[in-house]
Amino acid sequence: MPPRSYILFEANYAQLKSYRPNVAVLPWGATEAHNYHMPHGTDVIEATALAERAAKLAFEAGAKPIVLPAIPFGNNAQQLDQVATVSISTATASAILSDVAQSLKTQGIDRLVILNAHGGNEFKPIVRDLQARLGMLIVIINFFQMCPDALDEIFEGNAGDHAGQMETSFLLHERPDWVQLAQAGPGDRVPFAIEGLNQAGVWTPRPWSKSHPDTGSGNPAGASAEKGKQYIGRVSYEISRVLISLSTAQKGQSPFL
Ligand SMILES: [Zn+2]
Repeated sequence: MPPRSYILFEANYAQLKSYRPNVAVLPWGATEAHNYHMPHGTDVIEATALAERAAKLAFEAGAKPIVLPAIPFGNNAQQLDQVATVSISTATASAILSDVAQSLKTQGIDRLVILNAHGGNEFKPIVRDLQARLGMLIVIINFFQMCPDALDEIFEGNAGDHAGQMETSFLLHERPDWVQLAQAGPGDRVPFAIEGLNQAGVWTPRPWSKSHPDTGSGNPAGASAEKGKQYIGRVSYEISRVLISLSTAQKGQSPFL
């Protein structure tokens, strides 16, 4: 397959000089345990797969996206007891994002989408600061929060939030050789012992290994490659619509362009 001009990792300079992308997509994951049955790279695989699919659809519709190489590390500060887990702090994430955005702005790429696949990554405060400083349009997509109806329908109300049915189905479609379903635990959650913490609107991070003994949050039972395919199709279509509308937005249109 020849290099795709909308994937930075593949594209050559000749392609990019004539293509001139105007909206960058930064897939951002984490490298962490996903129950006992899925690869540590699960979030990176998901963010990259969705970014590439959505960019393809947008490109074919005449938009000018460019998918950047994925950031492989995320905030895993509550998982540092798990072997080989690497966590990056919010200050580090902020520095990376700032440098990426500043670089793109210099070349006239003034629209940036962070395609986040890890629930522990929080970009809002960083983007608020950066948006004000750089004056470029920065958008956060948490893919797992998109298409709630499809999520509920496809996974029958049991999508799970970490290594559950949704993520397992995603990987069964995308990287079936790397899913060892027979090794999976049930993905149970042990509630906090401090009673006052177990109610809506009250939050503190979970000490992950204690709260989720097999590291999973959500039962992968019922996962299938077919469900993964349906879900990926739906979400990447919705992301492509975001990319198309950003790419075709005119200067002066709200917000921030
Ligand atoms: Zn994940």
